[in-house]
Amino acid sequence: MTSSSSRRKRLGEFEIIAKFFAPLASESGAFGLKDDVATLAHRSGQELVLKTDAIVEGVHFLSDDPADLVARKALRVNLSDLAAKGAEPVGYLLSLSINAKTGTPWIKRFAQGLAHDQKTFGLSLLGGDTTATPGPTTVSVTAIGWSPLGALPRRSGAKPGDLVFVSGRIGDAGAGLALLQEKSRAKGKSYTTLVSRYRLPEPRLALGRALRGIAHATIDVSDGLLADLGHIAETSKVRIAIKADAIPLSAAFVDKLGKKRRAIVHAATAGDDYEIAFTAPPSARDALKRAAAQTGTPVTEIGRVEGGKGVVLLDASGKRIPVKRAGYTHF
Ligand code: ADP
Ligand code: MG
Repeated sequence: MTSSSSRRKRLGEFEIIAKFFAPLASESGAFGLKDDVATLAHRSGQELVLKTDAIVEGVHFLSDDPADLVARKALRVNLSDLAAKGAEPVGYLLSLSINAKTGTPWIKRFAQGLAHDQKTFGLSLLGGDTTATPGPTTVSVTAIGWSPLGALPRRSGAKPGDLVFVSGRIGDAGAGLALLQEKSRAKGKSYTTLVSRYRLPEPRLALGRALRGIAHATIDVSDGLLADLGHIAETSKVRIAIKADAIPLSAAFVDKLGKKRRAIVHAATAGDDYEIAFTAPPSARDALKRAAAQTGTPVTEIGRVEGGKGVVLLDASGKRIPVKRAGYTHF
């Protein structure tokens, strides 16, 4: 096939927008993606909650990851931040830099992934931008949600005496990524579970909303449990002590990595969990139990907040476990 005929087959920017993205947008507000901007109607008694996060080929997803899962991951990493802040997502903007060699089937499948999760989470596409790049594909999503005025839990609200909790299981996604990277051939059930936890995070939106008025400080766990708790410790000016044995590990994780100290440190520092870590006073224990049950989300007590600074990981006898690197950093 000559390059000119392959070029003819390839869709142009506006064809891509009209064919794949316009069906994901509503006529009201987004004007069917046929105008320069979108609008969002004001909601009284609420404030907008905004978050943007990009995922980059070769950094946050792998070149041969299925395109629909890439799309859903791009959405979900943003929704996870809204979840940690108890916000209700309503829509998103999408800025796409697609590697110039990417074919139309990839974009089609990508849009199918968006359509799927728009339904799951009640979202619509408000607008965006589409460009080609000689570099890796980059998917940047800006998620928009609502929160009752003044109700947003901050990173800075932790107080000495609080307990520390985390949702779900920690370390699955990091283990899944490690398995993908080492091109593991032993693929059984645990392999599949861990890899899908890496590719498709589960934003804890219902739990986040149930934590309104209960949690003192919250954070989305994306770079590593200890690193993210470090942000709470720093902004709240407290010390956080985590019990290594209390960190919730899944059966699949234990199957693949075991539960010795090295495995626990891997789980606590690997990142990509997209769970909610939070602090709450001991008096909130019952309310938390109810919130966990009502939202069907496991919640585990993993440590406590003290005076001082930093985050420490403790063994069963209260001795400090050395941790070289608390989490993922880009630079
Ligand atoms: P501009 O020339 O101002 O950059 P565009 O021609 O890029 O505008 O976009 C036209 C319309 O299509 C706008 O409403 C824009 O928000 C929307 N749009 C473009 N790319 C995307 C995308 N990837 N996802 C959603 N909406 C998009
Ligand atoms: Mg544009």
